Amino acid sequence: MAEEKKESQLLKEKLARTSDSAWERLPEGEHKHVFSFAEEYKHFLREAKTEREIVKWIQTKAEKQGYQPFENAAVKSGAKLFITNKGKNIALLVIGKNGVDSGLRIIASHIDALRLDLKSAPFYEDGGLVMMNTHYYGGIKKYHWVNTPLALHGVIFTKDGKRLDVSIGENENEPVFVIPDLLPHVGGRAFAEKKMNEVITGESLDAVAASLPLFEKDAVDKVKLRLYKYLNEKYGVIEEDFFSAELQLVPAIKPRDIGFDGSLMGAYAHDDRSCSYANMASMLDLVGPADHTCMAIFMDKEEIGSTGATGADSLFLENVVEQICSKTNSQKTTHQVLADAKIISADVTSALDPKYREFFDSANVNYVGYGVSVERGTGYGGKYEGSEATAEFMSFIRTLFNKEKIPWQTGEISKVDEGGGGTVAKYFAKYGCDIIDIGPPVLAMHSPCEILSKVDLYCAFKGYKAFFETK
Ligand code: MN
Ligand code: MN
Repeated sequence: MAEEKKESQLLKEKLARTSDSAWERLPEGEHKHVFSFAEEYKHFLREAKTEREIVKWIQTKAEKQGYQPFENAAVKSGAKLFITNKGKNIALLVIGKNGVDSGLRIIASHIDALRLDLKSAPFYEDGGLVMMNTHYYGGIKKYHWVNTPLALHGVIFTKDGKRLDVSIGENENEPVFVIPDLLPHVGGRAFAEKKMNEVITGESLDAVAASLPLFEKDAVDKVKLRLYKYLNEKYGVIEEDFFSAELQLVPAIKPRDIGFDGSLMGAYAHDDRSCSYANMASMLDLVGPADHTCMAIFMDKEEIGSTGATGADSLFLENVVEQICSKTNSQKTTHQVLADAKIISADVTSALDPKYREFFDSANVNYVGYGVSVERGTGYGGKYEGSEATAEFMSFIRTLFNKEKIPWQTGEISKVDEGGGGTVAKYFAKYGCDIIDIGPPVLAMHSPCEILSKVDLYCAFKGYKAFFETK
């Protein structure tokens, strides 16, 4: 005869949230999909490492599935369309049965990531070396970026206006670039007692570029001139061309599995390429049009506050919606459509690091492997600069994810007074739409090798897809 359950057990089952991980909650038959989805994601990470490369990658993938450029296509029910902006934003659309008049669902993720941009005049010669000046982009811990191999990506426009796409350091036979840190034998106590932000400063993030001189006695800047000769012979560029360029140093490491059991992935820029990949995949997976229109939109400049012509604070989203309204003869204005929209701000959040428990509220923290995180709000301190979802919209998401059996969790990025962060949510919230942050938790976020659980990524994908598809 079965033993009778204790009251504590009965109450836990009836009233408390589950404490099982996403691996346990997901049917075992789905585990193979978790791993195959992760392999496709790693492939994407290897091939596209800048916002420009990602826009191209997504466009190519979408075109293969029949997506058409918005300008020339008929904007009618079921149409699969894409719009780009300055090569740094792309929006994928599946037009609903009633255009945007029956609603608009948007998933917004960002495709920019932490990196070191080359300055307009990158090169200087000192101590027999040519060094490259950089200007870091986004919230990095500068000491993460020294003594690690970096690849150079970007575009250069030559003096004739010819465009050159650059990618150096991804293949084994190509060189990489390294920012050397001071050896431990030098600097003494004064250096050892510096604070974290003083050890490596922004100006000291200079990478080694060359050391071979011109063989000419008494000439000045011999290494620099030899480098210019090389760059001109190989790429046809001159010094001034670096002014009309966008060049980024990014970690040259390849995405790899982390740990013994193959459950985790280490890579550059899980923030926010994990959500961007899941966003794109959920969009391309849609079968037939819903009543509402679905949009996967990919933003730039999130890491520096969503500013500029390609950030979430720009009018790109409005411009897209305005064009849909006009081409579908919508009865609503652009702002009405956006006010009625339901939006997921698809961005990663922090995961508990067991070495630093003291910085997290253990009842309100996200755990690696416990599913996609649904966060009610962002901001720092007393919720400053944040965005907060309504209880109504949280109820909508929670009900949907539970119905679809999608393992999810919730948390805050840190203890109340000990951190915080923002996403694109607050820039879209201004329309009066429903918007909430949903994405997987990441360990070592904003470092050159961030760590993500394969099951959390898969749960994000499942969640995004359910959001697009549900009534
Ligand atoms: Mn992010
Ligand atoms: Mn970030």
